[in-house]
Amino acid sequence: MIRYALSCKACEAEFEAWFASSGAYESQKEKRQVRCLDCGSSRVEKAIMAPAVKTTKAKDAAPDPEKLMEEFAAKARDHVAENFDYVGESFAEEARSMFYGEQDHRPIWGETTAEEREALSEEGVPAAPLPPAFTPPVPKPKGRLN
Ligand SMILES: [Zn+2]
Repeated sequence: MIRYALSCKACEAEFEAWFASSGAYESQKEKRQVRCLDCGSSRVEKAIMAPAVKTTKAKDAAPDPEKLMEEFAAKARDHVAENFDYVGESFAEEARSMFYGEQDHRPIWGETTAEEREALSEEGVPAAPLPPAFTPPVPKPKGRLN
């Protein structure tokens, strides 16, 4: 047995029906035996979303991809802000010095020029561009630096 969510093209009713197999559905459909429970029309199609009985509820519950993406990006930004040290324009210098063991590894983020990025990549220093959506606001410089 196979269950299909069906929708009526005539009255837009949505309902579910059981068939012996997908072939049984096809052959009953061909013979116009698959009919709308509401209006009796044979203009019934398999609905894309299943189950289709509570369409409005299902639609409300379906996550909005844009919202999900924004939530994900917000988490990524928080993660960077909390765990990564902002080193500003000395990123290339810091990354290189960690790579060559001149200082302990720690997660950092900062700014690089295109030339610096190219040089780092040629030297094999692991660094990846942070997508703009994942980039937290630049922290205010600490007073003790001056
Ligand atoms: Zn109908």
